Amino acid sequence: MKDFFSLNEQSRQHLNVFFAISMDFLCITDERGGILKSNQTWETKLGYLTPELLNKNLIDLVHPNDVANLILALKKLSMEKESLTLASRLRANDGTYQFVTWQFQWVDELIYSCAKDLTELYHANKKAESAEFSKNQLISLLSNEIHEPLESLSLFIQLIGKTQSSSDQNICLENIRLSTEFLENLINGILVTDKSNQTGHDVLAFNFHNTVEDAIIPLIVSAKRHNISLDLAIHPKIPATVLGDSQRLKQIISFLVLNAIKCLERGKISIEATPENTDKAVFKIYFTVKTSGIAPLKGGTDNPFSINDSNSRANESTLDFGLELVKILVETMNGKFSANQDSASGYEFSFYVLLLRDDAQNSKNVNRLSERVLPMYNKNIRLKAEELLAIEQIRNDQAKSYDKAITERRQRILVVDDAPENTQLLAQALIENYEIVVANSGKDALGIAQQVPAPDIILLDLSMPDMSGYEVCKQIQLEENTMDIPIIFLTTLSDTENEAYGLQSGAVDFISKPFDLPRVEEKIKNHLALKHYREILSIAADTDALTQIPNRRRFEEMLAIEIRKARRNNTPLSVIRIDIDYFKPYNDSYGHLAGDDCLREVANSLKKTLKRAGDLVARWEGEEFTCLLPDTNLKGAAHVAENIRKAVLNLRIPHQSSPVEKVVTLSLGVATGIRSDESSADPFGDLLKQAQAALINAKGTGRNRVFVYRK
Ligand code: GH3
Ligand code: MG
Ligand code: MG
Repeated sequence: MKDFFSLNEQSRQHLNVFFAISMDFLCITDERGGILKSNQTWETKLGYLTPELLNKNLIDLVHPNDVANLILALKKLSMEKESLTLASRLRANDGTYQFVTWQFQWVDELIYSCAKDLTELYHANKKAESAEFSKNQLISLLSNEIHEPLESLSLFIQLIGKTQSSSDQNICLENIRLSTEFLENLINGILVTDKSNQTGHDVLAFNFHNTVEDAIIPLIVSAKRHNISLDLAIHPKIPATVLGDSQRLKQIISFLVLNAIKCLERGKISIEATPENTDKAVFKIYFTVKTSGIAPLKGGTDNPFSINDSNSRANESTLDFGLELVKILVETMNGKFSANQDSASGYEFSFYVLLLRDDAQNSKNVNRLSERVLPMYNKNIRLKAEELLAIEQIRNDQAKSYDKAITERRQRILVVDDAPENTQLLAQALIENYEIVVANSGKDALGIAQQVPAPDIILLDLSMPDMSGYEVCKQIQLEENTMDIPIIFLTTLSDTENEAYGLQSGAVDFISKPFDLPRVEEKIKNHLALKHYREILSIAADTDALTQIPNRRRFEEMLAIEIRKARRNNTPLSVIRIDIDYFKPYNDSYGHLAGDDCLREVANSLKKTLKRAGDLVARWEGEEFTCLLPDTNLKGAAHVAENIRKAVLNLRIPHQSSPVEKVVTLSLGVATGIRSDESSADPFGDLLKQAQAALINAKGTGRNRVFVYRK
């Protein structure tokens, strides 16, 4: 047997350099697996000191169930004197196991071995498999349980649509129809099996950027789980609005990105959209979806190209089902799809679709439910017509100013770690794009989180001396004004149990130390995007479309919160119910549109009259409004109500048909609750009813007045 120590001095030095810099498990053994030389990784990852290893055989270090395979491999190596790969579990000094793949090479009676640590990948794979399983379950549930009844519902609505009905009924029907269509869209998007539905498509104006983003944003989370980041680049030459089938385009992009996610173990997916000459009335937009990073180990089902494909270059007949569907969808948009596998740099999918120039620039007229609702992924889909309107309005107008407000100020990151070197490192890396606030203890962190403006995201060390990260996280989530801030844990303990516990405690993600700074930035960017997105949605769901003041849902939510506060702090809480007098006659004489204008004017006036920060005015329904006045007693609330009455009276909105005044007037009912220790009855439970009773009294005693409820 040749001894590798007989290598000349220079070769030995070269070998030592390789051994020193490698992160994999390297060793040189004799033909029976006896270790002759090993590198530092064995100590850092498994806890074996080098001298200790020199007395060992590789066979002693693998899982008992892997021993037979290893012995076979060694035999094969010494007989065939070549190279081979093998997967096994390596035992660490503390008895735990790591998953590795070995690469063995036979050279001059010696076996050179390199083992790559795949533990993380193994766990990721297991997670992905269980996710895949749940997804399949969900899909079969959807297809069986929902699809058919939905179709009958559609038919039913079509039938009813043919009968005579009042305008209110029509609105309600339209609402149901839109919701059904939305659900159907969603389900068809998931159930890719029904190909007969995929022919023919709509041509409508849509916002190109929003559509592409809407397709991708929901995938960020799932990609992140696979350690994949998504990069989107839309060429500036692509016009904001174009004509075409946005629904289909969205489906194509999401399916393609989902497929690309399957092709990667970790890495990056870049999605790029570039236009052909957009001066033409009909033009192509080219999309490329490229993967770069580590591909999954096994081929087969996870590979988008069939394993039977003998040449490495894919041709279209061997595409798997997901891509086959993309191809069909692309063709219905008069485009073409192609997929390439380049073993060095990953997969590349590309397609183009034909879109029309939008000469009228009529994005405002885009009037399809799916356009308005699809971004609401997880939200309540039983939206009222007015809420749909609100979402559209907000997405079209307010979202812009809201976006601006958010982008105009730098987003604020709170970094919490007891070790200054960590906070410094993160601050340095992030300071260019974000405003950084640092806390060195849990207590400081809680104080800073309460400041205005609140942090947009918190990076939180798990182990700190005064208070653990879990504890800080819990406190932050208990406070109403901080509960929506996403928290990312900074951790050195990267085992899955901690992760599960951490995610349960409400963190959105983990960053493990030592920091991989580009990935840290990537994670922050994604979570901020998600948060921003959620904020837009929650504003849309809380605002009344016509008057742009909070809606009833928001009012009821705040009422519950304020009741809790009033109980806790022993403060009074008042409610005012407001109803416009003779509003039906107003509509009758001036028309519904004038009626709408009047409602907006009144809402504006109410908003202006309530001056205190905690006060809330909301549209209850129709021509009725409500006010919520925290920490205000009956006398104070009556005073506010009287101010409101006068303010609207002084608007002097003409109302010819009103029997009270020739201008628009209000009737108001006031009620107050306060915790009293003597009575066991709930002083807040009936606040709304009491205010309503007072309002009825105000109406009954002549209108244009305030009535106070007394117990
Ligand atoms: P009262 O003095 O007793 O309150 O009489 P009223 O006519 O104001 O009350 P009623 O509840 O009979 O009618 C309310 C009317 O408000 C019915 C409807 O025409 C009108 N209305 C409700 N919502 C809207 C809306 O969004 N826009 C317009 N223009 N009118 C609305
Ligand atoms: Mg009314
Ligand atoms: Mg009224």
